[in-house]
Amino acid sequence: MNDLVLVLNAGSSSLKYQLLQPDSSLVLASGLVERIGEPGTRARTRHTVGGGSTTEGEVDAPDHTGAMALVLDLFATVGPSLDGVTAVGHRVVHGGDRFRAPTLVTSEVLAAIEDLVPLAPLHNPANLAGIRAAQAALPDVPHVAVFDTAFHQTLPPHAYTYAVPQAWREEHRVRRYGFHGTSHAYVSRRLAELLGGPVADAQVIVLHLGNGASAAAVAGGRCIDTSMGLSPLEGLVMGTRPGDLDPALAGYLAARGIPLADYDHALNTASGLLGLTGTNDFREVMSLLDAGNPDARLAVDLVAYRLAKYVGAYAVALGSLHGIAFTAGIGEHSAPLRAAVLARLGLLGIRLDPRRNAEGPPERPITTQDSAVPVWVVPTAEELEIAQQALAALQALSASEMPRL
Ligand code: AMP
Repeated sequence: MNDLVLVLNAGSSSLKYQLLQPDSSLVLASGLVERIGEPGTRARTRHTVGGGSTTEGEVDAPDHTGAMALVLDLFATVGPSLDGVTAVGHRVVHGGDRFRAPTLVTSEVLAAIEDLVPLAPLHNPANLAGIRAAQAALPDVPHVAVFDTAFHQTLPPHAYTYAVPQAWREEHRVRRYGFHGTSHAYVSRRLAELLGGPVADAQVIVLHLGNGASAAAVAGGRCIDTSMGLSPLEGLVMGTRPGDLDPALAGYLAARGIPLADYDHALNTASGLLGLTGTNDFREVMSLLDAGNPDARLAVDLVAYRLAKYVGAYAVALGSLHGIAFTAGIGEHSAPLRAAVLARLGLLGIRLDPRRNAEGPPERPITTQDSAVPVWVVPTAEELEIAQQALAALQALSASEMPRL
């Protein structure tokens, strides 16, 4: 049966969506509303039907409820019809240690997501606004929350615990949670399929390298370690975030007159590639590098070195390594970065095939036949994963278990 799922990803000033058939992976429509609620400017919409025609517009959208109304209007006027939508799947960034799986949205679930706002102050409020607006607009359809953190709930205690005082861990829920879970879930499973062996035996590393970046070590479909922690700041060097740091830095800078709010803001928005080179766009970093810019040279070396260190660490964590996947904007498109990372991994017997690395279909191996560990580019498909997870969660709930919406 061709179920239809509407996937919504609400950011602080944006609402992205896709209408999909999870069984066939067919995308019937996709689009976004951006600049929602930004003073002095109108929101922008872009709505694409199938692989074809795109409708763009500038309209008023003071909040997510207004944005949702615009989206419904686009489906009604441009199409396709939303009649027969089986479920709405919502990306929710932080599910804490409470949500280990996609969950039917009830008032109690909304309250729990609200309770997690202190752990994701930038993301969960926007996700909640998106869910509430969509519930009001589509009240007769089940809404399912799919959490970025859920895939990492299988981390063992030695991987998720910070060695900090017990009171912090117990009263303030201080631990590592991990993010990008839907991407890591999809790509690790897809890589396991591509490697040809049973998915249940595959020991793989996924490198999700977009504006945000994280690595995950996955054994038999279960995540055993990941590079992001309590927040998405930890781990790899990213577009505007530094990744791993000495925790003493906050106190050191406070003593030198830098307020905590400025510190926090700088680590989220002015560090990483931006802090090192003046741009967080990796394409621009590569152009600077080609022009001989020393800051860009250092940035690319730092990014590649940090990535190689994580791969080495995760190979040890897994015990044996069957494959590595590069995914997301930089991972899928930057052959030079992939080459720089793999050049540091000779110890693992990895041998790059420069021709395969430089060109080929979006999903392809980039190592030689005799490489001890095959390395692949695997395009991520977060919306498809959310749609499939939402549908599977609903199918798992028998009619009698389905609470009143
Ligand atoms: P994402 O967050 O997954 O959309 O990835 C965004 C990042 O991917 C940005 O830093 C882009 O500069 C980078 N990116 C996108 N396309 C390319 C490309 N063709 N080559 C290098 N980097 C790219």
